[in-house]
Amino acid sequence: VTAPDVAVIGGGIVGTAAAAFLAEGGARVVLFERATLAAGASGRNSGVVQSPFDPVLAQLYVDTLERYRALEARGDGGLGLKAEPAGLMLVSHDVAVAEAAARSVRASGMDLGVEVLGPGEAARVEPGLAQSVAACLVPIGYPVPPAQATRAFGAVGRRAGVGIREGTEVEPLVRDGRASGVRVVATGDELAAGAVLVAAGPWSPALVDPSGAWRPIRPLWGVVVDIALADPPRRVLEEAEIEGVTDAGGRPEADAEAAGAVGEHATETDVSFSLVTAGDSSSVGSTFLEREPDADALVAPILRRGATFVPAIAATPARGVRMCARPLSVDGRPLLGRIPGVDGLWIAAGHGPWGISTGPASAAIVADLILGRRSSVPSGLDPARFGGLRL
Ligand SMILES: Cc1cc2nc3c(=O)[nH]c(=O)nc-3n(C[C@H](O)[C@H](O)[C@H](O)COP(=O)(O)OP(=O)(O)OC[C@H]3O[C@@H](n4cnc5c(N)ncnc54)[C@H](O)[C@@H]3O)c2cc1C
Repeated sequence: VTAPDVAVIGGGIVGTAAAAFLAEGGARVVLFERATLAAGASGRNSGVVQSPFDPVLAQLYVDTLERYRALEARGDGGLGLKAEPAGLMLVSHDVAVAEAAARSVRASGMDLGVEVLGPGEAARVEPGLAQSVAACLVPIGYPVPPAQATRAFGAVGRRAGVGIREGTEVEPLVRDGRASGVRVVATGDELAAGAVLVAAGPWSPALVDPSGAWRPIRPLWGVVVDIALADPPRRVLEEAEIEGVTDAGGRPEADAEAAGAVGEHATETDVSFSLVTAGDSSSVGSTFLEREPDADALVAPILRRGATFVPAIAATPARGVRMCARPLSVDGRPLLGRIPGVDGLWIAAGHGPWGISTGPASAAIVADLILGRRSSVPSGLDPARFGGLRL
């Protein structure tokens, strides 16, 4: 077998999109996924393509949406993307929190018609809401089936010649400051490759630096409950946080020990409500936990919290529960590009709560860097901001 030009590690949204772009750009590519495509957060998220409240990430979102539209136009998408956004409601039981959310959306530089709706008004706009709920309405947000974007890029990649090896856990082979391929963990087999791209979400730092010294990305665990509401809200609902705009997953856990204990003694206060409906499936979320929780024990608290915003949730049984880890970087922005200190080793990871909304654009940037079609990384996204590896 000819050695591939690029070995990609990780079959989430970022790895599948990168593999597809690399192959379309003429590279020989093999993608290694230890489980199945979309087994991680890329298959278990809430399913909304939405502009992050961060000007550095906004362009990644715009480019990603264009790429999804191009997939849809070619018949490769299956995302059901509408022409207009569904709308996002940042909801709260306290109108002052909804007002603070509106101020903070405006301060984030988004030039949008943001509106605050008081108790009663919000329920008139979105009839499923409780009368007591206030909201900040932002005209963004496209619901999509959670795993579909990753599946679509997997199919596009296969067609472009990407070799996809599911059920194959690998690690980069690094010798003398150079990545020369990957090693299959189960067998010890080595496969040479011209370059190695680590796109393994929250598991990326451990692959880049097994010593544990380099850890710019950590997992933030989320649990989402799947229900079928008879008459679901049309808009995306997210609980507004006290600090203002939606925390969207960036909320640091003050006490990792306490977070780890969630599950057995879970309460509604561990939950920040969200509701996204795509097709006949509504995803009710979610948690933001440092340690892997007991997902089943969180179903009741998630639905209880949800029912305080959308009363119909109380009468709707859970169809399923899914859990996964957001790959959250220290500064909330992804790491895109060369790992300083190792030749031939690249990373595209750290998308936190925004990977479905920004991952494909990130993947395109790193694919172009590897193919030599671009030479610099957009400001604020270069992995070098976290220093290099000491080998
Ligand atoms: C509850 C929740 C809700 C979310 N909702 C949204 C949302 O509505 N909108 C949005 O934009 N984003 C959302 N996100 C964030 C989004 O899901 C992630 O940012 C994104 O999926 C990360 O993609 P990734 O490809 O970097 O990582 P992952 O999806 O984690 O993929 C990494 C893959 O690498 C594989 N892997 C790991 N180690 C190895 C190895 N050694 N060898 C081979 N394979 C390996 C894993 O099995 C995994 O499949 C949500 C996240 C969570 C947890």
